[in-house]
Amino acid sequence: MVQELSHYVGGKRVSGISGRFGDVFDPCTGQVQGRVPLAGSEEVENVVAIAEKAQVEWAAMNAQRRGRILLKFVDLVNQNMDELATLLSSEHGKTLPDARGDIQRGIEVVEFAAGAPHLLKGEFSDDAGTGIDVHSLRQPLGVVAGITPFNFPAMIPLWKSGPALAAGNAFILKPSERDPSVPLRLAELYSEAGVPDGVFNVVNGDKEAVDALLEDPRVKAIGFVGSTPIAQYIYATAASHGKRAQCFGGAKNHMVIMPDADLEMAADALIGAGYGSAGERCMAISVAVPVGQETADRLVSKLQDRVKRLRVGHSLDKDSDFGPVVTASAKERIEGYIQSGVDEGATLLADGRGLAVDGYDGGFWVGPTLFDDVTKDMKIYKEEIFGPVLSVLRAADYDEALQLCSDNEFGNGVAIFTRDGDAARDFASRVEVGMVGINVPIPVPIAYYTFGGWKASGFGDLNQHGADAFRFYTRTKTVTTRWPSGIRQGASFVMPEGS
Ligand code: NAD
Repeated sequence: MVQELSHYVGGKRVSGISGRFGDVFDPCTGQVQGRVPLAGSEEVENVVAIAEKAQVEWAAMNAQRRGRILLKFVDLVNQNMDELATLLSSEHGKTLPDARGDIQRGIEVVEFAAGAPHLLKGEFSDDAGTGIDVHSLRQPLGVVAGITPFNFPAMIPLWKSGPALAAGNAFILKPSERDPSVPLRLAELYSEAGVPDGVFNVVNGDKEAVDALLEDPRVKAIGFVGSTPIAQYIYATAASHGKRAQCFGGAKNHMVIMPDADLEMAADALIGAGYGSAGERCMAISVAVPVGQETADRLVSKLQDRVKRLRVGHSLDKDSDFGPVVTASAKERIEGYIQSGVDEGATLLADGRGLAVDGYDGGFWVGPTLFDDVTKDMKIYKEEIFGPVLSVLRAADYDEALQLCSDNEFGNGVAIFTRDGDAARDFASRVEVGMVGINVPIPVPIAYYTFGGWKASGFGDLNQHGADAFRFYTRTKTVTTRWPSGIRQGASFVMPEGS
């Protein structure tokens, strides 16, 4: 049965009125399981009006009370974890443990954001001039919007909305049209926790809804995560409409394996980071860079053994290491990249094309794919594939490996595996990438640090979560104060004596 989905506006689910819909698939079967309404600009304008009205009261509530509501929300998400994770898997295709991780890494940021009273504290200077004090306030922006990708349908909406709401803004989420059901459930849980109607809204849609948000002067900030071309478009368009924007884009994450690394550990890490979630993670490792021929030969042989043992299957099957990719067009794109790697002369050691999963003929399956002898000029190296394809690019020495990571167009995450503290320290200091792992393959920073890539992986000067999120979702007001002398001179402070 095909379910008709909705928007979430003013504290309830509302049907779309544009007459336009997008298909939501079950990637394990290839069947359409839902139809998501695609909002037109009038619907977006209506949501903005509702959010603008609701924000006033929300901002007037003190930050500690807002924080308590967010903690209640975290409790509710935990109570509903199994249902949310199953729903997430059913539209995205990632395995159940991975879906739980998606939700868990999201609510950790909401927990952090509940500390808003501390994070919103301003500065104070006593006696900046004679009798003059100066202090600063962090005030909410008003209505802000988040535009999020398909690959983390819980985590990224929560990274955006938690700090935005904690800071006193109203939030409009435009989630990916591929997997909109979890965002809609999160909206219900925000309401159940006590977030007032109209403060958190979900408007489903495509470019038309996004453009309406970008152009509406009442929307003060846009937080975007998705592919690089769209990130650039959103950043430029938001700026031209006078909005602040933080836009995170695609990635091509490298892992350097030094000759002294624990190769068992490095191979295990590469398998998890390269193929987990079918490679559909912005922090997935897609390029392994072993240093020296001997390291490369030993590593590749360990990778080949492990790739043979990987199980691809239904996302709810406990034995699956990873599930299908998100859509038929994603499968086609990834298979096209595999062919281009072959055509350009890379050595294909494992080919994920043509994978069949028993009982699920129509699913969007791509098996683990491993390339050796990849070079810098190949398309499979230069472009983001966003699938279960790992390329091995051999480097002669440390300097070449470091240069390769720094020269890449993208700069999201990078890792080095070594036992040598000096090499690790030099690498972390010099590499031109925003997030670095030392013997950690996917260095997604914890909630109270900030997340953000460099170069073509991130546009804007403030990162997601951590203290930066509160800077992004507030504006600073600075107050300079002088009080005239008054009652202190004229008044009597002496207890009058009786006559
Ligand atoms: P996408 O760019 O196709 O879509 C992201 C969002 O933009 C969606 O909400 C979509 O509806 C909207 N959108 C798409 N086309 C648009 C257009 N022409 N105009 C306006 N809005 C448009 O990305 P995706 O396929 O959903 O997600 C995968 C991409 O996201 C990968 O490139 C991945 O690396 C990246 N990603 C980056 C990070 C990060 O933190 N850097 C995190 C997760 C995913």
